[in-house]
Amino acid sequence: MSRSTDRQIYVVLGLARSGQAAAQVLLGEGHIVRVTDIRPATDFDAVLAALLRTAGNAGGSLETVFGRHPVSLLDGAAAVILSPGVPERIPFVQAARRRAIPVWSEVELAARHLHGTMIGITGSNGKSTTTALLAHILQQAGRPAHAAGNIGRALCEFIPGDTPTTTYVTELSSFQLETIDTFRPHIGLILNITPDHLDRYHSVDEYARAKWALFKNCSASDFAVLNARDPWLVSQAPILTCRVLWFDSTRRPSPADIPGAGLVDDRLWLRLDDESLSLMARAELPLPGRHNLENCLAAALAARLCGLNTVEIRQGIVSFRGLAHRLETVAEIDGRLFVNDSKATNIDSTRLALESYGQPVVLILGGKDKGSDFSSLRETIQAHVRHMLLVGEAAPLIERALAGTAPLTHCRDFDEVVRRGLELSAAGDVVLLSPACASFDMFDDFEHRGEVFRQAVLALQKEKHRC
Ligand code: ADP
Repeated sequence: MSRSTDRQIYVVLGLARSGQAAAQVLLGEGHIVRVTDIRPATDFDAVLAALLRTAGNAGGSLETVFGRHPVSLLDGAAAVILSPGVPERIPFVQAARRRAIPVWSEVELAARHLHGTMIGITGSNGKSTTTALLAHILQQAGRPAHAAGNIGRALCEFIPGDTPTTTYVTELSSFQLETIDTFRPHIGLILNITPDHLDRYHSVDEYARAKWALFKNCSASDFAVLNARDPWLVSQAPILTCRVLWFDSTRRPSPADIPGAGLVDDRLWLRLDDESLSLMARAELPLPGRHNLENCLAAALAARLCGLNTVEIRQGIVSFRGLAHRLETVAEIDGRLFVNDSKATNIDSTRLALESYGQPVVLILGGKDKGSDFSSLRETIQAHVRHMLLVGEAAPLIERALAGTAPLTHCRDFDEVVRRGLELSAAGDVVLLSPACASFDMFDDFEHRGEVFRQAVLALQKEKHRC
């Protein structure tokens, strides 16, 4: 890349994945980039080497401060690129605001460079699944498309290969949306709004408004794809200046009643510009549960707005395998489906998982407690669960909260869990890891926990094959 004729000073605050990508772009344009992170420099040896290489090649200049963020870094700065992990209320960011220095998220920086079509996906739940699904549908139809944002690569990483015909399907958190300025998705999806991150926001309304910022720059040629079952979204939609289309997982009497994407009997339909299009049977959906029906409806609607036909959309959906650790089928052993839902780190996710299956479930619960009220699961457990297997620190707490709902057994580790799961289930059952707890008592993160479960299931399957 060539040295920018307009050499500026930028501050990159937070050197995780998106901060690294932003620094790479700016150094590649020959700017002066000051990076700062609360962690020590030794955590970033490889990252700094890569940044220095880029700076050397492009005539950029890298300055670093680790362990603190002195406000002198702001002197002469054109903008601060803020990592989504860093709260806006910290004194450094406040100082930038007082000096009227723009504070941008990495997606804002990326959007200022990219020429392709931008699709933004946000919501409290389902962002990663819907982002991956929509990118997959577009790719299967032969469109150049990338899943970007939290789900995989930072948006800035796509700048070098950018073309006007590329579509960027970008997963966005409310934190990223707090710091956009000109970012304007051609299609914006809000999947749902449920109370979350109330440690960072004062109220649900404040949290919802952060997500709503997705549409702050939209105009009449853009689209909003919204969940018709979400009262907050329904109440706000009339103020939008872009075109609004709804997805609705509630059965409608006829295709003509569908406001964008929805369900009539057991078929998925699309309806745009007074034209109804039959998409597929609900039974063909590869992912279980009403929540995944909503993710599929939202993605299908967005794919249609990108110009795909119903054959292409259906093919993309049926060939989607889902994301790891989210109701992921690992194996079938003796007629039992072993399912990894390690991402379910809270009660609501576990409830959704149980409601996704019609057959009896042997449920694996436990891990690190987050102060949850497990007794709110009592009814769902009674309705769906044949047996509970408890692991980890929270096991005694869960036992007290759920006593009397279904039989339960304590297990030491996941090898024991999968064996007991097989013994205590019947053919046709689901053996489901959906722990309703964080993983940090026994594992690095939910991915690690899911992987250990998967390996234990596969080992058991192998053993059974040998018998
Ligand atoms: P996110 O990226 O928003 O965290 P994921 O796609 O990773 O969402 O899904 C995380 C969990 O959220 C899933 O395991 C499931 O329990 C739940 N979930 C997924 N989609 C939805 C949805 N549309 N509505 C409600 N909950 C959902």
